[in-house]
Amino acid sequence: MTRPLALFGGTFDPIHNAHLRVAWEAAECLDADVRLLPASVPPHREQPVASARQRAALVQAALAGQVRLSLDTRELQRDGPSYTIDTLLEVRAEIGPQRPLVLLVGADAFAGLPSWHRWRELFDHAHLGVLTRPGHDAAVLPTELRTKIASRRCSSAASLREAPAGRVLPIAVTPLEISASQVRALLAAGREPRYLVPDALFADPALLAPYRR
Ligand code: ATP
Repeated sequence: MTRPLALFGGTFDPIHNAHLRVAWEAAECLDADVRLLPASVPPHREQPVASARQRAALVQAALAGQVRLSLDTRELQRDGPSYTIDTLLEVRAEIGPQRPLVLLVGADAFAGLPSWHRWRELFDHAHLGVLTRPGHDAAVLPTELRTKIASRRCSSAASLREAPAGRVLPIAVTPLEISASQVRALLAAGREPRYLVPDALFADPALLAPYRR
């Protein structure tokens, strides 16, 4: 089996150090390359403060200097809500039926999966890698999700390499209690979220300008 490809979607409004660190740890744990996909119009939440183009520029700046994590702008090119199922179908068509594809989600996002468009079909096209997140108990799941994943849970990255899709792996990552909401609140209050976001975001004053009042 070839190395898995992992996708990490999000609003990234803005990207912060916990996004980067957990994506990096997942890349190492899975021996995978990870693509970060900013959602153009996130269907499950309030609309972002920064535009899709601005958020993608922040991700691009944050990823400079390494090759393992990359920016994938496909959701920015589609009109309407960014449905993960559409992204998985597109990527699956590109990589072929055999290569393991892993959708990375934080524990909070995973618990909300049953509200996602055609969520049951996600498992037909990808594995789910569930990243631990402080303040979110990965064991507390809605019944329909618990039922859906009961026979899919696995405990090693190796088992994701044995099949192209369909399994669920908890990935214990360094607990980092950072959120984009916290970063936005600091910027709106005229403070600097230094060391919560990568230094590269301060290099060009235009990057964080959408969040400053
Ligand atoms: P907000 O505070 O605006 O809700 P956020 O910090 O949760 O934003 P998102 O862009 O919504 O960031 O998250 C993208 C993905 O990253 C989601 O799957 C989310 O669960 C995960 N994630 C975000 N922050 C962390 C963190 N500190 N630890 C683990 N996973 C995280």
